[in-house]
Amino acid sequence: MKNNRMKKSALLGIIALLFVSVLAGCTSTSEKDTVQENTQRPIMIQGPMPIEAEKFAEKLENVKEEQSGDFVFYIGTLDNYPVIVAKTGKGMENTAAATAVAIEKYNPIAIINQGTSGGHDPDLNVFDIVLGKRTTNLGALKTGDKGEGEGIDPTTWKPMDLMASEGSAGEDPNAEKARFYEGDKELLAAANAVKDKYTEGKIVEGTIGSADVWNNEVDRIKWFHTKYGTSVEEMEGAAAAQIAKAYDVPFLGIRVLSNNKTNGGQYNPDTATACQEYVYEVVKKYISTMPSE
Ligand code: SAH
Repeated sequence: MKNNRMKKSALLGIIALLFVSVLAGCTSTSEKDTVQENTQRPIMIQGPMPIEAEKFAEKLENVKEEQSGDFVFYIGTLDNYPVIVAKTGKGMENTAAATAVAIEKYNPIAIINQGTSGGHDPDLNVFDIVLGKRTTNLGALKTGDKGEGEGIDPTTWKPMDLMASEGSAGEDPNAEKARFYEGDKELLAAANAVKDKYTEGKIVEGTIGSADVWNNEVDRIKWFHTKYGTSVEEMEGAAAAQIAKAYDVPFLGIRVLSNNKTNGGQYNPDTATACQEYVYEVVKKYISTMPSE
């Protein structure tokens, strides 16, 4: 009887011990997982059109595809580091939404918005690449004050900064200026460090202008170039930059010229592939300079 009871309590003891060690095992794995999640936040590469995103996505390893709305996320690794390619769709709205969704879902450590663009600087040719030291919204404008029959006068329109205050931008004289989003210094340093790997054109730092507009009037393009210092125009960068800033995520725009109306540069879609190949090198460099765990 006594012997039996002793056996029983020994058995219970062993079970309890096993239980505790299983629990301990669980805690240590989940702690490890959390640590890994914190140190390995993914780098996000955005491209608007299939030709601007899919080439990069093909280069990732261990890819899994996820979709939110129309936005497609290719979640994979590059040199064993998590990288997500986002196919955002064209334009400011798609890009802003895809950026916010991605930040909430994937907590990226940095965002690169890349793709094609139209030249504003006659010294830049198709296949040259602009690193966005600054990115600005070319569609945020306040028109002149004119009555009926007084016409339309776009060259008198003023830039309008919608982020100047929470009050009315139309009434606020302090909002009569362009807002420039600065390219992240470390992303820029990585991009400059691999400049020589790009052989299809030159790489310069400059200003990227964005709006849901394709400008084909050379005088209007010149007006932006003079007034805002734009090197190129496209339809996404400033939207991504604005949302990245709202969440304090480092951001850089990288744009290849696919056309340049100011010097007769004809549209060439192959530039999209060239840009992704260069951005791949930038991301590799950025990963190699990250502090290891
Ligand atoms: N020629 C292409 C046009 C694509 S629409 C076609 O017919 O399929 C515009 C896309 O190209 C946007 O994602 C924008 O970022 C980029 N883009 C390239 N050149 C541009 C330019 N000159 N002006 C505005 N967007 C331009």
